[in-house]
Amino acid sequence: MRVLIIEDEADLLASLAKALREEGYAVDTAADGEEGLYKAQSWDYDVILLDVMLPRLDGWTILHRLRESKKTPVLMLTARDAARDRVRGLDTGADDYMVKPFDLEELLARLRALIRRAAGQTRNVIDIGEVVMDIAARRVTRAGQPVALTAREYALVEFLALRRGEVVTRTALYEHLFDEDDNTLSNLLDVHVSNLRKKLGAEFITTHRGHGYSIT
Ligand code: CA
Repeated sequence: MRVLIIEDEADLLASLAKALREEGYAVDTAADGEEGLYKAQSWDYDVILLDVMLPRLDGWTILHRLRESKKTPVLMLTARDAARDRVRGLDTGADDYMVKPFDLEELLARLRALIRRAAGQTRNVIDIGEVVMDIAARRVTRAGQPVALTAREYALVEFLALRRGEVVTRTALYEHLFDEDDNTLSNLLDVHVSNLRKKLGAEFITTHRGHGYSIT
């Protein structure tokens, strides 16, 4: 899953990006409103973390402009716990909001919920044959036994599982699993797929030659 963080507080931006990357998210960042809006409109992010008070363009304006063309889930980060702000955020098309300072674990849980809902998945648990994914706990088991996945492997399985039955193109996978700073060495999709087949079964991921991959 690829996340855009639009936040002008450098320390918060860096710590959020680090925490999300550790969870396996591909993370793009923007430190001002103009850059943020440009990126938000240019790519299909799975979720956007949007600060309200930003230089150049504020969060409200970004959200308003973004909603003219995109439904990307947006979680607003507001510094003020004013009911007016919350109502305004939700009215403008925010999907959720958190008041600073926030608890990181809660933020991560809300991001997972937003991504799940955007994919039309109402349950936290997805059964795929003998493989069971718990999206809330980020846990995968095979025949009841826990399977250790790297953050990137997990992200790949989650992205395909949330689009079960669909062929997901390699282009879409590159867009959603790797961020703007990723180098090509970590981008070897085929290697991740091959490792996942070893861990979850040879048939777990289907290759559609020339098209992409699917989980059925
Ligand atoms: Ca700010």
